[in-house]
Amino acid sequence: MKDLTGIERFEEKVFLSSPTMHGDELRYIKEAYDTNWMSTIGKNINEVERIVAETIGCKYAVALSSGTGALHLAIKLAGERLYGKCRPNEGTLAGHKVFCSDMTFDATVNPVAYEDGEAVFIDTERDTWNMDPEALKKAYEIYPDVKLIVVAHLYGTPGKIDEIREIAKEHGALIVEDAAESFGALYKGKETGTFGDFSIISFNGNKIITGSSGGMYLTDSKADADKVRKWSTQSREAAPWYQHEEIGYNYRMSNVVAGVVRGQLPWLKSHIEQKKAVYDRYKKGLADLPVKMNPYDMKNSVPNFWLSCMIIDKEAMSEFVRGEQDYLYKSEEGKSCPQEILEMITAINAEGRPIWKPMHMQPIYRMNGFITRYGNGRGQSNAYIDEGEEVDVGADIFKRGLCLPSDNKMTEDQQDRIIEVIHRAFQ
Ligand SMILES: *Cc1c(COP(=O)(O)O)cnc(C)c1O
Repeated sequence: MKDLTGIERFEEKVFLSSPTMHGDELRYIKEAYDTNWMSTIGKNINEVERIVAETIGCKYAVALSSGTGALHLAIKLAGERLYGKCRPNEGTLAGHKVFCSDMTFDATVNPVAYEDGEAVFIDTERDTWNMDPEALKKAYEIYPDVKLIVVAHLYGTPGKIDEIREIAKEHGALIVEDAAESFGALYKGKETGTFGDFSIISFNGNKIITGSSGGMYLTDSKADADKVRKWSTQSREAAPWYQHEEIGYNYRMSNVVAGVVRGQLPWLKSHIEQKKAVYDRYKKGLADLPVKMNPYDMKNSVPNFWLSCMIIDKEAMSEFVRGEQDYLYKSEEGKSCPQEILEMITAINAEGRPIWKPMHMQPIYRMNGFITRYGNGRGQSNAYIDEGEEVDVGADIFKRGLCLPSDNKMTEDQQDRIIEVIHRAFQ
């Protein structure tokens, strides 16, 4: 780690992305308390479902306890649509492969395993850091029968949606869209969360709008919304007693949590503006360094800029290796690496984070397939270079990239100090 002499530590920690409350959250929580709707039924839930559906531009939004729960039910619904009702001891995807985003949070893909499906990971492209349509095409050459694609919009940046939808259509495949990180982001003027056959968003504590936890299932289909609502409340049939003809879950959002979301929702636009200002300030402040910000499609998309990330130019990377749980780097003049920068950011009491470690590199998924635009990624080493670019794009971005402190309450002075720290890393 390089010298930080003269740079003062923050007295209060600057977080990666922490909840930003505004006051009305408390009012709606209190309303739930005062009216005794301390349950999974109540006005806050009805209101957030109405407002989110309106904001996204879909007919129905079903409030759930988490984005992961929403993804589970979305993926289960997709499995049932494709393959019919599962047998009592099997998930709906048993015996079936599913193409999944590779560089993402593991919550995107774990529900495929909950439903006994087998995730096959699709490599990442460099333009938006999302699923590579070229790799997806290649995957269909290898596994032509796959009927489900689970795709995330990373860090609030919409992926190559039209290309992916076109490929899905060609193969009669359905799409589960994980817009957990991208609430409020637009692609060709339309909200993310409207592009999947099954779509979700998250209200986890560090997302752009939070309920402390929570998520939503989004759809235009009344039948699907009803099904998800039923599954999320233990799958009770309309009988005078507890009658169960399907497996159920306890995934409904609490009316107290919904109160927090309800207080937050009017601030979506303003949070996006603040996040964008953070991104733009980094972009300007780091312009003289051998790094680039996380890219997006300026012509077709408007990200919500949830997290600001950067990637170090290849020539400016110091020697750096990661093991499964540790790392080692050489502190070199004029060069740096993500873990050195993260150490330095931590040293002044701010919080950064490595890029999501790609799923195909995770021990838990080491037996699953991984497809790059050149074919079976399991057979390709990082030493295989095409026109100067590593073939395993996800591994390359993970190696050279990092997430910067992106809290919307960060002041300009604080951000300037973080930018100065990053400059020191390259001294
Ligand atoms: C946060 C997140 C989820 C999960 O949402 P939770 O509400 O935390 O369960 C899923 N996918 C991605 C990409 C996420 O970032």
